[in-house]
Amino acid sequence: MLRPSAARLSHFVPSLALLIAGLAAAYVKDLNVFFTSLFNVLPTLVLLLGGAYCGVYKRQRELFLMITVYIAYFLLDTQTDYYRDNGKVREDAAVVFHLCCLLLPIMFGLFAAWEERTHLLQDLVARLAVLVAVGSVALGLEQSFPDSLLAWLADIRWPALHGEWMSLIQLSYATFLIAFALLITQYIHKPRPLHAAQLVGLLGLFWALPKTFILPFTLNIMCSQVMLMIAAGVAHEAYQMAFRDELTGLPGRRALNERMQRLGRNYVLAMSDVDHFKKFNDTHGHDVGDQVLRLVASKLSKITNGGGRAYRYGGEEFAIVFAGKTLDECMPHLEVIRETIANYSIHLRNQDSRPQDDQQGRQRRAGSQASTVSVTVSMGVAERLPEHRNPEEVLKAADQALYAAKGAGRNCVIAHSHMNKRGAVRMAAAS
Ligand code: GH3
Ligand code: MG
Ligand code: MG
Repeated sequence: MLRPSAARLSHFVPSLALLIAGLAAAYVKDLNVFFTSLFNVLPTLVLLLGGAYCGVYKRQRELFLMITVYIAYFLLDTQTDYYRDNGKVREDAAVVFHLCCLLLPIMFGLFAAWEERTHLLQDLVARLAVLVAVGSVALGLEQSFPDSLLAWLADIRWPALHGEWMSLIQLSYATFLIAFALLITQYIHKPRPLHAAQLVGLLGLFWALPKTFILPFTLNIMCSQVMLMIAAGVAHEAYQMAFRDELTGLPGRRALNERMQRLGRNYVLAMSDVDHFKKFNDTHGHDVGDQVLRLVASKLSKITNGGGRAYRYGGEEFAIVFAGKTLDECMPHLEVIRETIANYSIHLRNQDSRPQDDQQGRQRRAGSQASTVSVTVSMGVAERLPEHRNPEEVLKAADQALYAAKGAGRNCVIAHSHMNKRGAVRMAAAS
């Protein structure tokens, strides 16, 4: 199910920005030559660049989404060009337009929800087969029975549901509704930037289709924007893969290295390590260990309240960066977090004997003593001093302080400045 923390506004921001830019551009009147020429080539340009980008990343799902949008754009653009040049629509305009309105949400929804299989070639062939099959059936029907196809498409099947505002055929609203439901469900189950981009992209297409013959260049602009949303979704996910730790959701080591290059003169770094975690894993299993790491990460991420930022350094070690802070400002916040983690009871569920249904589960929970465990963390902190030549030296000092915290009995926070030359903790600081 959807975890509120997992569904992020940041997933939607790039696509929403592109959508708003597209809406604004579509309403601009009297475009100059530069923009009209640009909008004429933009969809093809975006398809070529975005398609190449998806190809390099082997993202076939996104590539086919772009191709679907481009085909619809191409078919409708031929019609709008004719309309612009001749002042009247082409003979087959209605049937082509209605077919696009019916098939675009179906194909977009299908390719968006169709997850990639591991075998790339099979995946490519299957997607291509679906596209060719749907395309050729539609083309065949359009060529052979244009009038009956048009009548079938334009038929008002549900008069009670028909509204005056509906400028698309009824069937198109039905297919858009199904596609929206599918993509919303997909995002709820798997909140990823790409799934968010698909959802906003579908919204953009839903907005643009009725304006095809009304606002000039709407189609060019919105189709380009939707393809850009998909490409931006791929880029966003590639960034996340490189900079975010998948297990905990915290930024990872690479993000920390990058952040450390941009620190000013005053900052504090902390290293935190879960105590006796190897033993914990051996006793409760790796899966419970992973759950605990997620929990520790979520508590550490609250350090933003104290002006810090937590990173997963590796394994069960986390680094915290306080930019522009002093040691005295940071210590109380770290102490609070250490204490919160130590006092938190983790309820263990026996994965092997999970009840079949909720009622059974409630009865079992009420009847049995739920087993709880807790973990502690040790922390070492170092403030940047004039003798430190780079952030790596400060991190090393924090690591030494962490080592001292382990030596001082664990479950404590030790500052490097409170250690003497031999690494022992001065009594006043340890207490
Ligand atoms: P200390 O108090 O001295 O830190 O003892 P420790 O046992 O925590 O220290 P050590 O570094 O020897 O053990 C770290 C353990 O963390 C080893 C490894 O099994 C576990 N670990 C590292 N990464 C993960 C992970 O992603 N998931 C799980 N479940 N365990 C991990
Ligand atoms: Mg360790
Ligand atoms: Mg440890």
